[in-house]
Amino acid sequence: MIPLDKLVRPNIWALEPYSCARNEYSGAASVFLDANENPYNEPYNRYPDPLQLALKEKIAAIKNVRPAQIMLGNGSDEPIDLIYRIFCEPGKDNAVAINPTYGMYKVCADINNVEYRKVDLDEDFKLDAGKVLAACDGQTKAVWLCSPNNPSGNLLDKHEIEKILDGFGGIVIIDEAYIDFAGGFSWLTVLDDHPNMVVLQTFSKAWGMASVRCGMAFASEDITGLFNKVKYPYNINLLTQRFVSGQLEKSAEKEQWVTEILKEREKLVKEIEALDICEKTYHTDANFVLAKIRNADDCYRYLMNGGIIVRNRSKVDLCGDCLRITVGSPEENSEFIEAIRKFK
Ligand SMILES: *Cc1c(COP(=O)(O)O)cnc(C)c1O
Repeated sequence: MIPLDKLVRPNIWALEPYSCARNEYSGAASVFLDANENPYNEPYNRYPDPLQLALKEKIAAIKNVRPAQIMLGNGSDEPIDLIYRIFCEPGKDNAVAINPTYGMYKVCADINNVEYRKVDLDEDFKLDAGKVLAACDGQTKAVWLCSPNNPSGNLLDKHEIEKILDGFGGIVIIDEAYIDFAGGFSWLTVLDDHPNMVVLQTFSKAWGMASVRCGMAFASEDITGLFNKVKYPYNINLLTQRFVSGQLEKSAEKEQWVTEILKEREKLVKEIEALDICEKTYHTDANFVLAKIRNADDCYRYLMNGGIIVRNRSKVDLCGDCLRITVGSPEENSEFIEAIRKFK
C-alpha cells in the first residue's frame, strides 16, 4: 500500500480538525458550561457524541470489528463523498470504478471535480481485475467495487477482488450494501489483512431503516481517523444514535426478513422468467432482480400508469432493455406479476 501521507490530499493531512471542549475531557463531569447549550429540555439540549461510541460498541460486537474501525455517516453516501474529499485532489487525481454500478460514486466524483474512469464488467457483469488495474495510473487514488453489485445484483468474484486489493496501492472500496442477502463471505471478516480496504455497509436495506439515514464504513483505524477529522463533528444526531442502537436488538427479526425476501425472490424470478416478454433475468445475490424485457421502456411506463414503480435501467451501459425489480412483500410481488402479465 502507498503510505497514507502520500495518498491523502496535503491539505487534509495537514488539517487541524474542529475540536470541542468535550474532546479534551473524558471523565465524568456534571457541570457543562462549555458549549453554549440551553440547560433545559434534557436530553435534546446537549450536543451528541461526535464519535458515537456507545452505538459503535454495539455495532462492533455484531460485526466482530473494533469500534475504532467504524465510521458512521448520513447513509453510505456520506463516506462515499468523504473518500473523494480526503484522497482525491480536484482536477488532478482520479478514481476507477466498475461499470455499470451504483450512481453515487460518479455523482460524488463530479461534485468534487475528480476524474471518474469506468471499467466495463463483462456481459454477465463479471469482474476482470486486469482491466481495472490497467485503468489505474499514478494519479488513481481510489477503486470502487460493489458486491453484490447494483444494478446487476451479482457478487463479484473473490479472487478478482483480491488481485485488485493486492495489485493497487491506493484505497479499494467494497460496497456491501446488499451483503445480508448474499450469505457467505463478507470482506469485513478480513479487514485487518487489507490496510487499503474500505468496506461500506448500511442500515438502509436488510435492516429496514432507509429513512433513518445511517451508513457504515469499516477500515483501518488510520483511515477512520481521517474520516473523523473531515466529517461534520455532529454528523449523527442523538435521535439516530439511540434509535439505531435500539433497532440492533432486532437482528433476529432482520434475519427473518432476509429469509422471507429470499424466498419471495426465488418465486419472483421464476414468474418473471415465465413471461413471454422476458428475454432473461440475471443471477442475483441481492434483494432485487435485473430482467431483460422486450420493450422495457413501454413496459416501465405501463407499470407506472398502474401505480407500480420499478427501476428503468434500459439506458444504463450493458443494461439495454433492463428493468430492476425490488423484491417486495408477497402482496406487492403478486400485484406486480399480475400487472406485468397483462402487458402486451
Ligand atoms: C442502496 C445502496 C446504498 C445505501 O445507501 P445509503 O446512503 O446507506 O442509504 C449503498 N450502496 C449501494 C450500492 C446501494 O445500492
